[in-house]
Amino acid sequence: MCVIFYEVICLCCKQVFRVYEGTEKYNKFKKNRNGKYCCDDCSHKIKIEAMKNFFR
Ligand SMILES: [Zn+2]
Repeated sequence: MCVIFYEVICLCCKQVFRVYEGTEKYNKFKKNRNGKYCCDDCSHKIKIEAMKNFFR
């Protein structure tokens, strides 16, 4: 079975991560390859930070 993915550089940690076919990020990346993308780790951190700020 062949898995389709793109290698994308994370905006936050500058690490290369993969977006796999069928995920929301993959679809976004397909539509806009020049967009800014974060890996799952950073997306998670950003979400937590946003929540902290929200409750402050
Ligand atoms: Zn990252």
